[in-house]
Amino acid sequence: MRIEKSAGGVVIYDNAILLLRKYNGDWVLPKGRIEKDENMKEAALREVREETGTQAEVIQYLGEIHYTYKENWDETNRIHKTVHWFMMRSKSLETVPQKEEGFIEARYIQMERAVDIVKYDDEREIIKVAVNYFKKGEK
Ligand code: ATP
Repeated sequence: MRIEKSAGGVVIYDNAILLLRKYNGDWVLPKGRIEKDENMKEAALREVREETGTQAEVIQYLGEIHYTYKENWDETNRIHKTVHWFMMRSKSLETVPQKEEGFIEARYIQMERAVDIVKYDDEREIIKVAVNYFKKGEK
């Protein structure tokens, strides 16, 4: 079994969260592989920049999620993946989706709605963690 490590961001602007829409309609968070020469925070910031065109800053670590998937539908090639997530803040609503990677839209979506529409349950839970921190910070 192969192991993959990625990192990504829950980027907040005002009370909205940055989501990417894939060519098939799925809404997901920006993330990607951690390269050899970088730590997980650097990877998360780079992936957010590359996939969404957003210059963000990290507020705090949110946690990790795990899932497995099959490479090429071959059961012998299962990949176990860990994704580390960071809560981030951006100063601009401007975005540029990375079309070459199959993302057709990068958009800030009101928090409660982002929780509803995001494709994967594990990403939904990470968004909820970020929303809780955000709401605590508001008081
Ligand atoms: P990365 O963005 O880290 O470079 P990738 O684009 O190569 O990764 P994934 O996004 O991990 O690959 O997708 C690989 C498979 O895992 C796909 O079949 C996808 O549907 C599934 N998948 C992606 N994200 C999740 C998730 N959060 N929970 C469960 N399955 C997921």
